[in-house]
Amino acid sequence: MDDHILFHATDAIIGLDLRGSITYSNTSAEHLLGLSSRELLDRDHRTLLADDPNHTYEMIRESLMFGEHIDPIRREVLTKGGKAPQSVLVQYSPMKSDKGKFMGISAIMRKLTQSEKVANKAQALLETAPDAMVIVNQQGQIVLVNAQTEAQFGYTKEELLGKELEILVPDDIVYQHRHQRERYVSEPVPRNMSEDMELKGQRKDGSTFPVEVSLSPLKTENGLFISAAIRNISDRKKEEHKFRRLLDSAPDAIVIVGKEGLIQIVNAQVEKIFGYNKEDLIGKKVEELIPERYKNKHPGHRNSFAHNPKVRPMGAGLELSGLRKNGEEFPVEISLSPMETKDGILIIAAIRDITDRKSAQKELERKYKELEEKNKELEQFAYVASHDLQEPLQTVISLTEFLAESYGGMLDTNGAKSMEYVLASTKRMRQLIKGLLDYSQIGRQAVLAAVDCNTLLMEIKEDLSTVITNTKASIKVEKLPIVQGYETALRQLFQNLLTNAIKFTKANCQPVVSVFCKEEGENWLFGVKDNGIGIDKKYVDRIFIIFQRLHLREQYEGTGIGLAHCRKIVALHHGKIWVESEINKGSTFYFTIPK
Ligand code: ADP
Repeated sequence: MDDHILFHATDAIIGLDLRGSITYSNTSAEHLLGLSSRELLDRDHRTLLADDPNHTYEMIRESLMFGEHIDPIRREVLTKGGKAPQSVLVQYSPMKSDKGKFMGISAIMRKLTQSEKVANKAQALLETAPDAMVIVNQQGQIVLVNAQTEAQFGYTKEELLGKELEILVPDDIVYQHRHQRERYVSEPVPRNMSEDMELKGQRKDGSTFPVEVSLSPLKTENGLFISAAIRNISDRKKEEHKFRRLLDSAPDAIVIVGKEGLIQIVNAQVEKIFGYNKEDLIGKKVEELIPERYKNKHPGHRNSFAHNPKVRPMGAGLELSGLRKNGEEFPVEISLSPMETKDGILIIAAIRDITDRKSAQKELERKYKELEEKNKELEQFAYVASHDLQEPLQTVISLTEFLAESYGGMLDTNGAKSMEYVLASTKRMRQLIKGLLDYSQIGRQAVLAAVDCNTLLMEIKEDLSTVITNTKASIKVEKLPIVQGYETALRQLFQNLLTNAIKFTKANCQPVVSVFCKEEGENWLFGVKDNGIGIDKKYVDRIFIIFQRLHLREQYEGTGIGLAHCRKIVALHHGKIWVESEINKGSTFYFTIPK
Protein backbone atom coordinates (compact mmCIF):
# COMPACT_ATOMS: atom_id res chain seq x y z
CA MET A 1 0.00 0.00 0.00
CA ASP A 2 2.79 2.41 1.05
CA ASP A 3 4.58 1.66 -2.15
CA HIS A 4 1.50 2.51 -4.15
CA ILE A 5 1.09 5.83 -2.53
CA LEU A 6 4.66 6.71 -3.22
CA PHE A 7 4.73 5.30 -6.67
CA HIS A 8 1.68 7.20 -7.91
CA ALA A 9 2.13 10.45 -6.03
CA THR A 10 1.92 13.66 -8.14
CA ASP A 11 5.18 14.83 -6.70
CA ALA A 12 8.32 13.33 -8.19
CA ILE A 13 10.10 11.29 -5.55
CA ILE A 14 13.60 9.87 -5.72
CA GLY A 15 15.70 8.08 -3.15
CA LEU A 16 19.43 8.72 -2.87
CA ASP A 17 22.19 6.83 -1.19
CA LEU A 18 24.91 8.56 0.74
CA ARG A 19 27.01 9.05 -2.37
CA GLY A 20 24.10 10.71 -4.16
CA SER A 21 23.22 7.84 -6.48
CA ILE A 22 19.57 7.19 -7.19
CA THR A 23 18.15 4.14 -5.39
CA TYR A 24 14.45 4.72 -6.07
CA SER A 25 12.19 6.73 -8.39
CA ASN A 26 8.41 6.95 -8.70
CA THR A 27 6.36 7.45 -11.87
CA SER A 28 6.22 11.22 -11.52
CA ALA A 29 10.02 11.28 -11.26
CA GLU A 30 10.31 9.35 -14.47
CA HIS A 31 7.97 11.84 -16.11
CA LEU A 32 9.72 14.85 -14.73
CA LEU A 33 13.19 13.72 -15.64
CA GLY A 34 12.24 12.03 -18.91
CA LEU A 35 14.08 8.82 -18.00
CA SER A 36 12.86 5.30 -17.17
CA SER A 37 13.30 3.95 -13.65
CA ARG A 38 15.99 1.64 -14.98
CA GLU A 39 17.84 4.54 -16.53
CA LEU A 40 17.58 6.40 -13.28
CA LEU A 41 18.69 3.62 -11.01
CA ASP A 42 22.27 3.93 -9.73
CA ARG A 43 22.71 7.16 -11.62
CA ASP A 44 24.45 10.00 -9.76
CA HIS A 45 21.54 12.41 -9.26
CA ARG A 46 23.89 15.37 -9.60
CA THR A 47 24.13 14.74 -13.32
CA LEU A 48 20.46 15.71 -13.43
CA LEU A 49 20.86 19.05 -11.69
CA ALA A 50 21.69 22.33 -13.40
CA ASP A 51 22.73 24.30 -10.28
CA ASP A 52 25.90 23.75 -8.22
CA PRO A 53 25.05 20.06 -7.53
CA ASN A 54 28.17 18.93 -5.60
CA HIS A 55 28.32 21.59 -3.00
CA THR A 56 24.62 21.55 -2.27
CA TYR A 57 24.35 17.81 -1.85
CA GLU A 58 27.17 17.69 0.64
CA MET A 59 25.60 20.41 2.72
CA ILE A 60 22.18 18.78 2.62
CA ARG A 61 23.61 15.42 3.61
CA GLU A 62 25.54 16.95 6.48
CA SER A 63 22.54 18.83 7.81
CA LEU A 64 20.28 15.82 7.67
CA MET A 65 22.85 13.54 9.31
CA PHE A 66 23.03 16.06 12.15
CA GLY A 67 19.25 15.79 12.44
CA GLU A 68 18.51 19.30 11.18
CA HIS A 69 15.32 20.10 9.33
CA ILE A 70 15.70 21.59 5.86
CA ASP A 71 13.08 23.87 4.30
CA PRO A 72 12.13 23.22 0.67
CA ILE A 73 14.84 24.45 -1.69
CA ARG A 74 14.38 25.85 -5.16
CA ARG A 75 16.47 23.91 -7.67
CA GLU A 76 16.87 23.52 -11.37
CA VAL A 77 16.60 19.93 -12.66
CA LEU A 78 17.37 18.75 -16.17
CA THR A 79 14.30 17.17 -17.75
CA LYS A 80 13.84 15.22 -20.93
CA GLY A 81 17.04 13.30 -20.43
CA GLY A 82 19.09 16.34 -19.48
CA LYS A 83 17.87 18.74 -22.18
CA ALA A 84 15.49 21.28 -20.59
CA PRO A 85 16.04 22.86 -17.14
CA GLN A 86 12.95 23.04 -14.99
CA SER A 87 12.47 24.84 -11.68
CA VAL A 88 11.31 22.62 -8.86
CA LEU A 89 10.84 22.95 -5.16
CA VAL A 90 12.65 20.08 -3.45
CA GLN A 91 11.98 18.79 0.02
CA TYR A 92 14.90 16.71 1.27
CA SER A 93 14.29 14.25 4.13
CA PRO A 94 16.46 11.58 5.78
CA MET A 95 15.82 7.88 5.11
CA LYS A 96 16.48 5.80 8.16
CA SER A 97 16.52 2.05 8.88
CA ASP A 98 14.29 0.51 11.52
CA LYS A 99 17.09 0.95 14.00
CA GLY A 100 17.35 4.64 13.10
CA LYS A 101 20.52 4.29 11.05
CA PHE A 102 20.96 6.99 8.43
CA MET A 103 20.61 5.21 5.05
CA GLY A 104 20.15 7.94 2.53
CA ILE A 105 18.03 10.87 1.47
CA SER A 106 14.64 11.20 -0.14
CA ALA A 107 13.96 14.13 -2.44
CA ILE A 108 10.37 15.11 -3.17
CA MET A 109 10.20 17.46 -6.11
CA ARG A 110 7.30 19.67 -7.16
CA LYS A 111 7.32 21.67 -10.38
CA LEU A 112 7.05 25.41 -9.92
CA THR A 113 4.29 26.98 -11.99
CA GLN A 114 5.00 30.12 -13.99
CA SER A 115 3.36 32.45 -11.51
CA GLU A 116 4.96 30.69 -8.56
CA LYS A 117 8.28 31.23 -10.26
CA VAL A 118 7.63 34.93 -10.79
CA ALA A 119 6.39 35.32 -7.25
CA ASN A 120 9.43 33.50 -5.92
CA LYS A 121 11.76 35.66 -7.94
CA ALA A 122 9.97 38.81 -6.83
CA GLN A 123 10.11 37.62 -3.25
CA ALA A 124 13.81 36.88 -3.54
CA LEU A 125 14.36 40.33 -5.04
CA LEU A 126 12.32 41.96 -2.31
CA GLU A 127 14.36 40.25 0.36
CA THR A 128 17.53 41.80 -0.98
CA ALA A 129 16.15 45.32 -0.56
CA PRO A 130 17.40 47.20 2.52
CA ASP A 131 14.02 48.88 2.98
CA ALA A 132 10.64 47.52 3.91
CA MET A 133 9.08 46.64 0.54
CA VAL A 134 5.35 46.38 0.11
CA ILE A 135 3.63 45.56 -3.19
CA VAL A 136 -0.05 46.32 -3.51
CA ASN A 137 -2.54 45.72 -6.28
CA GLN A 138 -4.74 48.38 -7.82
CA GLN A 139 -7.25 47.93 -5.06
CA GLY A 140 -4.60 48.70 -2.50
CA GLN A 141 -4.39 45.16 -1.16
CA ILE A 142 -1.00 44.00 -0.02
CA VAL A 143 0.19 41.14 -2.21
CA LEU A 144 3.84 40.91 -1.26
CA VAL A 145 6.00 42.07 1.65
CA ASN A 146 9.57 41.32 2.65
CA ALA A 147 11.11 40.40 5.97
CA GLN A 148 12.09 44.06 6.54
CA THR A 149 8.42 44.96 6.49
CA GLU A 150 7.73 42.37 9.16
CA ALA A 151 10.60 43.66 11.25
CA GLN A 152 9.72 47.35 10.89
CA PHE A 153 5.99 47.10 11.36
CA GLY A 154 5.76 44.14 13.73
CA TYR A 155 3.29 42.16 11.64
CA THR A 156 3.90 38.72 10.13
CA LYS A 157 3.60 38.27 6.39
CA GLU A 158 0.39 36.31 6.86
CA GLU A 159 -1.15 39.15 8.85
CA LEU A 160 -0.42 41.57 6.04
CA LEU A 161 -1.14 39.70 2.83
CA GLY A 162 -4.52 40.64 1.40
CA LYS A 163 -4.97 43.57 3.85
CA GLU A 164 -5.47 47.15 2.75
CA LEU A 165 -2.18 49.05 2.59
CA GLU A 166 -3.53 51.58 5.10
CA ILE A 167 -2.96 49.01 7.86
CA LEU A 168 0.57 50.44 7.85
CA VAL A 169 -0.52 54.08 8.00
CA PRO A 170 -1.31 56.09 11.17
CA ASP A 171 -5.01 56.06 11.97
CA ASP A 172 -5.48 59.80 11.65
CA ILE A 173 -4.40 59.94 8.04
CA VAL A 174 -5.86 56.68 6.73
CA TYR A 175 -8.64 58.45 4.90
CA GLN A 176 -6.34 60.99 3.28
CA HIS A 177 -3.86 58.27 2.39
CA ARG A 178 -6.46 56.11 0.73
CA HIS A 179 -7.51 59.07 -1.35
CA GLN A 180 -3.93 59.80 -2.39
CA ARG A 181 -3.31 56.16 -3.26
CA GLU A 182 -6.34 56.09 -5.50
CA ARG A 183 -5.14 59.21 -7.25
CA TYR A 184 -1.71 57.66 -7.68
CA VAL A 185 -3.18 54.56 -9.30
CA SER A 186 -4.83 56.76 -11.93
CA GLU A 187 -1.52 58.45 -12.73
CA PRO A 188 1.26 56.14 -11.68
CA VAL A 189 4.80 57.52 -12.04
CA PRO A 190 7.86 56.67 -10.02
CA ARG A 191 8.32 59.26 -7.31
CA ASN A 192 9.92 59.99 -4.01
CA MET A 193 7.09 61.04 -1.79
CA SER A 194 9.02 62.35 1.12
CA GLU A 195 10.63 65.31 -0.48
CA ASP A 196 7.89 67.67 0.49
CA MET A 197 5.92 65.66 3.02
CA GLU A 198 6.48 64.38 6.52
CA LEU A 199 5.35 60.75 6.37
CA LYS A 200 4.79 58.27 9.16
CA GLY A 201 4.30 54.53 9.42
CA GLN A 202 2.27 52.78 12.12
CA ARG A 203 3.36 49.56 13.76
CA LYS A 204 1.08 46.77 14.87
CA ASP A 205 1.38 48.08 18.44
CA GLY A 206 0.05 51.47 17.32
CA SER A 207 3.37 53.31 17.65
CA THR A 208 4.41 55.45 14.72
CA PHE A 209 7.77 56.26 13.18
CA PRO A 210 8.96 58.67 10.50
CA VAL A 211 9.40 57.15 7.07
CA GLU A 212 10.52 58.05 3.64
CA VAL A 213 8.60 56.32 0.87
CA SER A 214 9.35 55.91 -2.80
CA LEU A 215 6.74 54.51 -5.12
CA SER A 216 7.02 52.78 -8.47
CA PRO A 217 4.36 51.27 -10.66
CA LEU A 218 4.83 47.62 -11.76
CA LYS A 219 2.95 46.85 -14.95
CA THR A 220 2.50 43.07 -15.32
CA GLU A 221 0.31 40.90 -17.50
CA ASN A 222 -1.85 40.47 -14.42
CA GLY A 223 -2.42 44.20 -14.17
CA LEU A 224 -0.89 47.17 -12.39
CA PHE A 225 0.87 46.75 -9.07
CA ILE A 226 2.54 49.41 -7.02
CA SER A 227 5.71 48.79 -5.12
CA ALA A 228 6.51 50.98 -2.16
CA ALA A 229 9.94 51.13 -0.60
CA ILE A 230 9.53 52.34 2.97
CA ARG A 231 12.59 53.55 4.84
CA ASN A 232 12.56 54.08 8.58
CA ILE A 233 14.22 57.45 9.05
CA SER A 234 13.98 57.63 12.85
CA ASP A 235 17.77 57.73 13.18
CA ARG A 236 18.08 60.42 10.59
CA LYS A 237 15.30 62.41 12.22
CA LYS A 238 17.06 62.04 15.55
CA GLU A 239 20.24 63.37 13.98
CA GLU A 240 18.29 66.22 12.44
CA HIS A 241 16.75 66.94 15.80
CA LYS A 242 20.17 67.03 17.43
CA PHE A 243 21.44 69.32 14.69
CA ARG A 244 18.47 71.65 15.25
CA ARG A 245 18.98 71.73 18.98
CA LEU A 246 22.61 72.55 18.38
CA LEU A 247 21.65 75.31 15.99
CA ASP A 248 19.14 76.73 18.42
CA SER A 249 21.64 76.73 21.25
CA ALA A 250 24.10 78.82 19.24
CA PRO A 251 24.34 82.40 20.47
CA ASP A 252 24.29 83.80 16.96
CA ALA A 253 21.50 83.87 14.43
CA ILE A 254 22.20 81.12 11.90
CA VAL A 255 20.74 81.12 8.42
CA ILE A 256 21.45 78.24 6.04
CA VAL A 257 21.02 79.21 2.44
CA GLY A 258 20.76 76.92 -0.57
CA LYS A 259 20.69 77.40 -4.31
CA GLU A 260 19.44 80.75 -5.62
CA GLY A 261 19.88 82.22 -2.15
CA LEU A 262 16.79 80.53 -0.77
CA ILE A 263 16.68 80.15 2.99
CA GLN A 264 16.51 76.48 4.03
CA ILE A 265 17.08 76.51 7.76
CA VAL A 266 17.08 79.21 10.41
CA ASN A 267 17.60 78.88 14.15
CA ALA A 268 15.72 80.35 17.07
CA GLN A 269 18.07 83.33 17.33
CA VAL A 270 17.03 84.45 13.86
CA GLU A 271 13.47 84.81 15.10
CA LYS A 272 14.66 86.85 18.08
CA ILE A 273 17.03 89.10 16.20
CA PHE A 274 15.12 89.65 12.99
CA GLY A 275 11.61 89.41 14.40
CA TYR A 276 10.34 86.88 11.86
CA ASN A 277 8.82 83.45 12.49
CA LYS A 278 10.81 80.56 11.09
CA GLU A 279 7.98 79.72 8.74
CA ASP A 280 8.02 83.25 7.31
CA LEU A 281 11.59 82.81 6.18
CA ILE A 282 11.96 79.23 4.94
CA GLY A 283 11.98 79.26 1.14
CA LYS A 284 12.38 83.05 0.98
CA LYS A 285 15.38 84.81 -0.54
CA VAL A 286 18.04 85.64 2.01
CA GLU A 287 17.96 89.22 0.70
CA GLU A 288 14.81 89.57 2.79
CA LEU A 289 17.12 90.12 5.77
CA ILE A 290 19.19 92.85 4.14
CA PRO A 291 18.52 96.61 3.96
CA GLU A 292 17.01 97.83 0.71
CA ARG A 293 20.10 99.67 -0.50
CA TYR A 294 22.26 96.51 -0.48
CA LYS A 295 19.62 94.21 -1.97
CA ASN A 296 20.70 94.67 -5.57
CA LYS A 297 24.33 93.94 -5.00
CA HIS A 298 23.90 91.05 -2.63
CA PRO A 299 23.01 88.28 -5.13
CA GLY A 300 26.31 89.06 -6.90
CA HIS A 301 28.28 88.67 -3.66
CA ARG A 302 26.34 85.54 -2.91
CA ASN A 303 27.15 84.02 -6.28
CA SER A 304 30.82 84.81 -6.09
CA PHE A 305 30.96 83.24 -2.63
CA ALA A 306 29.13 80.15 -3.92
CA HIS A 307 31.69 79.80 -6.70
CA ASN A 308 34.65 80.15 -4.42
CA PRO A 309 33.37 79.17 -1.02
CA LYS A 310 35.89 79.79 1.74
CA VAL A 311 35.29 80.19 5.42
CA ARG A 312 35.01 83.89 6.17
CA PRO A 313 35.29 84.62 9.87
CA MET A 314 33.47 87.33 11.78
CA GLY A 315 34.86 90.80 12.04
CA ALA A 316 36.50 90.79 8.62
CA GLY A 317 36.50 94.55 8.88
CA LEU A 318 33.28 95.07 6.95
CA GLU A 319 30.51 97.33 8.19
CA LEU A 320 27.39 95.21 7.64
CA SER A 321 23.76 95.79 8.41
CA GLY A 322 20.72 93.60 8.89
CA LEU A 323 17.06 94.46 8.44
CA ARG A 324 14.45 93.51 11.01
CA LYS A 325 10.89 92.66 10.07
CA ASN A 326 9.76 96.03 11.45
CA GLY A 327 12.06 97.78 8.98
CA GLU A 328 14.70 98.66 11.55
CA GLU A 329 18.32 98.42 10.46
CA PHE A 330 20.99 97.20 12.84
CA PRO A 331 24.74 96.60 12.68
CA VAL A 332 25.82 92.98 12.30
CA GLU A 333 28.90 90.87 12.06
CA ILE A 334 28.65 87.85 9.77
CA SER A 335 30.71 84.71 9.31
CA LEU A 336 30.19 82.52 6.28
CA SER A 337 31.10 78.89 5.73
CA PRO A 338 30.18 76.42 3.02
CA MET A 339 28.63 73.05 3.82
CA GLU A 340 28.63 70.22 1.30
CA THR A 341 25.42 68.21 1.14
CA LYS A 342 23.90 65.76 -1.29
CA ASP A 343 21.89 68.66 -2.72
CA GLY A 344 25.00 70.72 -3.41
CA ILE A 345 26.77 73.38 -1.43
CA LEU A 346 24.81 75.19 1.25
CA ILE A 347 26.06 78.39 2.84
CA ILE A 348 25.93 78.78 6.60
CA ALA A 349 25.77 82.37 7.74
CA ALA A 350 26.19 83.14 11.43
CA ILE A 351 24.92 86.62 12.16
CA ARG A 352 25.68 88.57 15.34
CA ASP A 353 23.72 91.63 16.35
CA ILE A 354 26.40 94.09 17.46
CA THR A 355 24.12 97.00 18.26
CA ASP A 356 25.11 96.97 21.94
CA ARG A 357 28.77 96.61 21.21
CA LYS A 358 28.67 99.43 18.67
CA SER A 359 26.97 101.82 21.05
CA ALA A 360 29.33 100.83 23.87
CA GLN A 361 32.22 101.44 21.50
CA LYS A 362 30.82 104.83 20.53
CA GLU A 363 30.33 105.76 24.18
CA LEU A 364 33.91 104.72 24.89
CA GLU A 365 35.20 106.76 22.01
CA ARG A 366 33.21 109.77 23.23
CA LYS A 367 34.57 109.35 26.77
CA TYR A 368 38.07 108.96 25.43
CA LYS A 369 37.78 112.15 23.42
CA GLU A 370 36.37 113.97 26.42
CA LEU A 371 39.27 112.78 28.53
CA GLU A 372 41.75 113.77 25.91
CA GLU A 373 40.26 117.26 25.81
CA LYS A 374 40.36 117.50 29.59
CA ASN A 375 43.96 116.34 29.62
CA LYS A 376 44.94 118.89 27.04
CA GLU A 377 43.20 121.60 29.03
CA LEU A 378 45.06 120.59 32.19
CA GLU A 379 48.35 120.44 30.38
CA GLN A 380 47.67 123.86 28.92
CA PHE A 381 46.86 125.13 32.37
CA ALA A 382 50.05 123.67 33.85
CA TYR A 383 52.03 125.16 31.03
CA VAL A 384 50.52 128.63 31.30
CA ALA A 385 50.69 128.64 35.09
CA SER A 386 54.27 127.47 35.31
CA HIS A 387 55.33 129.66 32.43
CA ASP A 388 53.73 132.80 33.86
CA LEU A 389 54.91 132.07 37.40
CA GLN A 390 58.52 131.91 36.24
CA GLU A 391 58.81 135.62 35.55
CA PRO A 392 57.64 137.12 38.88
CA LEU A 393 59.57 134.39 40.66
CA GLN A 394 62.71 135.28 38.76
CA THR A 395 62.16 138.91 39.83
CA VAL A 396 61.81 137.78 43.48
CA ILE A 397 65.02 135.75 43.20
CA SER A 398 66.95 138.58 41.53
CA LEU A 399 65.76 141.13 44.08
CA THR A 400 66.50 138.78 46.99
CA GLU A 401 69.98 138.19 45.64
CA PHE A 402 70.39 141.96 45.25
CA LEU A 403 69.20 142.47 48.84
CA ALA A 404 71.54 139.76 50.14
CA GLU A 405 74.50 141.22 48.31
CA SER A 406 73.85 144.90 49.01
CA TYR A 407 72.27 144.82 52.46
CA GLY A 408 73.35 141.42 53.78
CA GLY A 409 75.91 143.06 56.05
CA MET A 410 73.23 145.07 57.86
CA LEU A 411 71.33 141.97 58.98
CA ASP A 412 71.95 140.18 62.23
CA THR A 413 72.47 136.43 62.31
CA ASN A 414 68.75 135.67 62.36
CA GLY A 415 68.08 138.05 59.50
CA ALA A 416 70.97 136.57 57.49
CA LYS A 417 69.67 133.03 58.08
CA SER A 418 66.18 134.06 57.00
CA MET A 419 67.58 135.64 53.90
CA GLU A 420 69.44 132.39 53.16
CA TYR A 421 66.17 130.41 53.56
CA VAL A 422 64.29 132.80 51.30
CA LEU A 423 66.95 132.40 48.64
CA ALA A 424 67.05 128.61 48.91
CA SER A 425 63.26 128.31 48.88
CA THR A 426 62.76 130.58 45.92
CA LYS A 427 65.46 128.71 43.99
CA ARG A 428 63.80 125.49 44.84
CA MET A 429 60.49 126.92 43.74
CA ARG A 430 62.11 127.86 40.46
CA GLN A 431 63.26 124.25 40.12
CA LEU A 432 59.76 122.94 40.78
CA ILE A 433 58.15 125.33 38.37
CA LYS A 434 60.72 124.47 35.73
CA GLY A 435 59.92 120.80 36.32
CA LEU A 436 56.23 121.47 35.96
CA LEU A 437 56.82 123.39 32.77
CA ASP A 438 58.97 120.57 31.38
CA TYR A 439 56.32 118.08 32.37
CA SER A 440 53.61 119.92 30.45
CA GLN A 441 55.94 120.14 27.48
CA ILE A 442 56.71 116.41 27.17
CA GLY A 443 55.82 115.11 23.74
CA ARG A 444 55.04 118.52 22.28
CA GLN A 445 56.18 118.89 18.70
CA ALA A 446 58.43 115.86 19.12
CA VAL A 447 59.42 113.79 16.09
CA LEU A 448 59.31 110.03 16.12
CA ALA A 449 62.65 108.56 14.98
CA ALA A 450 64.86 105.51 15.26
CA VAL A 451 66.78 105.95 18.49
CA ASP A 452 69.86 103.86 19.21
CA CYS A 453 69.64 103.28 22.94
CA ASN A 454 73.32 102.24 23.13
CA THR A 455 74.49 105.67 21.92
CA LEU A 456 71.89 107.32 24.14
CA LEU A 457 73.18 105.54 27.26
CA MET A 458 76.79 106.31 26.37
CA GLU A 459 76.01 110.02 26.14
CA ILE A 460 74.03 109.97 29.39
CA LYS A 461 76.93 108.30 31.18
CA GLU A 462 79.17 111.05 29.93
CA ASP A 463 76.74 113.73 31.15
CA LEU A 464 76.61 112.05 34.54
CA SER A 465 80.36 111.42 34.69
CA THR A 466 80.92 113.78 37.67
CA VAL A 467 78.27 112.04 39.82
CA ILE A 468 79.48 108.63 38.72
CA THR A 469 83.07 109.47 39.65
CA ASN A 470 82.04 111.06 42.96
CA THR A 471 79.90 108.12 44.03
CA LYS A 472 82.24 105.52 42.51
CA ALA A 473 79.13 104.05 40.87
CA SER A 474 79.52 101.06 38.59
CA ILE A 475 77.15 101.32 35.61
CA LYS A 476 76.82 98.27 33.42
CA VAL A 477 74.88 98.65 30.17
CA GLU A 478 74.00 95.50 28.21
CA LYS A 479 73.41 95.57 24.45
CA LEU A 480 70.29 97.63 23.83
CA PRO A 481 68.03 97.83 20.77
CA ILE A 482 67.24 100.62 18.36
CA VAL A 483 63.69 101.74 19.06
CA GLN A 484 61.16 104.00 17.41
CA GLY A 485 60.76 106.88 19.83
CA TYR A 486 61.20 110.51 20.82
CA GLU A 487 64.89 110.99 21.43
CA THR A 488 64.86 113.89 23.92
CA ALA A 489 62.13 112.24 25.94
CA LEU A 490 63.90 108.87 26.00
CA ARG A 491 67.11 110.58 27.07
CA GLN A 492 65.30 112.16 29.97
CA LEU A 493 63.67 108.84 30.88
CA PHE A 494 66.98 106.95 31.12
CA GLN A 495 68.70 109.87 32.80
CA ASN A 496 66.03 110.11 35.52
CA LEU A 497 66.15 106.38 36.22
CA LEU A 498 69.95 106.30 36.31
CA THR A 499 70.15 109.38 38.52
CA ASN A 500 67.69 107.83 40.99
CA ALA A 501 69.53 104.51 40.92
CA ILE A 502 72.77 106.26 41.86
CA LYS A 503 71.10 108.67 44.27
CA PHE A 504 69.05 106.29 46.43
CA THR A 505 71.98 104.25 47.74
CA LYS A 506 72.57 102.92 51.20
CA ALA A 507 75.11 104.79 53.30
CA ASN A 508 78.70 103.76 52.58
CA CYS A 509 77.63 101.54 49.77
CA GLN A 510 78.96 101.80 46.25
CA PRO A 511 76.09 101.99 43.72
CA VAL A 512 76.00 99.10 41.25
CA VAL A 513 73.56 99.77 38.41
CA SER A 514 72.77 97.72 35.34
CA VAL A 515 70.68 98.58 32.31
CA PHE A 516 69.30 95.74 30.20
CA CYS A 517 66.64 94.96 27.64
CA LYS A 518 64.90 91.88 26.29
CA GLU A 519 62.24 91.17 23.72
CA GLU A 520 58.83 90.30 25.10
CA GLY A 521 56.23 89.63 22.44
CA GLU A 522 55.32 92.91 20.78
CA ASN A 523 57.45 94.93 23.18
CA TRP A 524 60.95 95.75 24.26
CA LEU A 525 61.21 95.32 27.98
CA PHE A 526 63.84 97.63 29.54
CA GLY A 527 65.14 97.40 33.08
CA VAL A 528 67.27 99.64 35.28
CA LYS A 529 68.43 97.74 38.34
CA ASP A 530 70.19 99.10 41.39
CA ASN A 531 71.46 97.83 44.75
CA GLY A 532 70.02 100.80 46.65
CA ILE A 533 67.67 101.37 49.58
CA GLY A 534 64.65 99.81 47.89
CA ILE A 535 61.02 100.94 48.11
CA ASP A 536 58.29 99.80 50.43
CA LYS A 537 55.66 97.80 48.50
CA LYS A 538 52.89 100.16 49.53
CA TYR A 539 54.54 103.06 47.75
CA VAL A 540 55.36 101.44 44.42
CA ASP A 541 52.49 103.26 42.68
CA ARG A 542 52.64 106.53 44.55
CA ILE A 543 56.19 107.36 43.52
CA PHE A 544 55.07 107.94 39.93
CA ILE A 545 52.77 110.80 40.96
CA ILE A 546 54.17 114.28 40.46
CA PHE A 547 55.83 115.85 43.55
CA GLN A 548 55.52 112.61 45.52
CA ARG A 549 58.66 111.75 47.46
CA LEU A 550 59.36 109.22 50.17
CA HIS A 551 62.26 111.03 51.82
CA LEU A 552 63.19 114.34 53.34
CA ARG A 553 65.19 116.64 51.15
CA GLU A 554 67.92 116.56 53.77
CA GLN A 555 68.27 112.81 53.25
CA TYR A 556 67.98 112.67 49.49
CA GLU A 557 67.92 115.76 47.29
CA GLY A 558 65.07 115.98 44.77
CA THR A 559 61.77 117.47 43.59
CA GLY A 560 59.54 114.43 43.12
CA ILE A 561 59.10 115.17 39.46
CA GLY A 562 61.50 112.66 37.88
CA LEU A 563 59.33 109.52 37.94
CA ALA A 564 56.22 111.49 36.91
CA HIS A 565 58.22 112.53 33.88
CA CYS A 566 59.23 108.93 33.28
CA ARG A 567 55.64 107.74 33.40
CA LYS A 568 54.48 110.40 30.98
CA ILE A 569 57.33 109.62 28.58
CA VAL A 570 56.60 105.89 28.62
CA ALA A 571 52.89 106.56 28.08
CA LEU A 572 53.80 108.78 25.17
CA HIS A 573 55.47 105.69 23.67
CA HIS A 574 52.37 103.57 24.46
CA GLY A 575 54.29 101.56 27.02
CA LYS A 576 54.03 100.84 30.74
CA ILE A 577 56.36 101.54 33.66
CA TRP A 578 56.53 99.85 37.06
CA VAL A 579 58.99 98.99 39.79
CA GLU A 580 59.90 95.78 41.57
CA SER A 581 61.77 96.38 44.75
CA GLU A 582 62.89 95.05 48.09
CA ILE A 583 63.81 97.25 51.02
CA ASN A 584 67.56 97.39 51.53
CA LYS A 585 68.24 95.10 48.59
CA GLY A 586 67.53 97.35 45.64
CA SER A 587 64.99 98.21 42.97
CA THR A 588 64.45 97.42 39.33
CA PHE A 589 62.47 99.89 37.26
CA TYR A 590 60.91 98.21 34.22
CA PHE A 591 59.30 99.88 31.24
CA THR A 592 58.09 98.67 27.86
CA ILE A 593 58.37 100.27 24.45
CA PRO A 594 56.30 98.69 21.69
CA LYS A 595 58.39 97.54 18.74
P1 ADP B 1 63.04 112.56 43.15
O1 ADP B 1 64.08 111.62 42.71
O2 ADP B 1 63.24 113.92 42.66
O3 ADP B 1 62.74 112.48 44.58
P2 ADP B 1 61.32 110.92 41.61
O4 ADP B 1 59.99 111.20 41.03
O5 ADP B 1 62.41 110.62 40.67
O6 ADP B 1 61.68 112.17 42.48
O7 ADP B 1 61.18 109.77 42.63
C1 ADP B 1 60.13 109.75 43.56
C2 ADP B 1 60.50 108.96 44.80
O8 ADP B 1 60.63 107.59 44.47
C3 ADP B 1 61.85 109.28 45.35
O9 ADP B 1 61.76 110.38 46.22
C4 ADP B 1 62.23 108.03 46.09
O10 ADP B 1 61.64 108.01 47.35
C5 ADP B 1 61.64 106.97 45.26
N1 ADP B 1 62.65 106.39 44.36
C6 ADP B 1 62.84 106.71 43.05
N2 ADP B 1 63.83 105.94 42.53
C7 ADP B 1 64.27 105.14 43.52
C8 ADP B 1 65.29 104.13 43.62
N3 ADP B 1 66.03 103.79 42.58
N4 ADP B 1 65.45 103.51 44.80
C9 ADP B 1 64.70 103.83 45.87
N5 ADP B 1 63.73 104.77 45.84
C10 ADP B 1 63.51 105.42 44.68
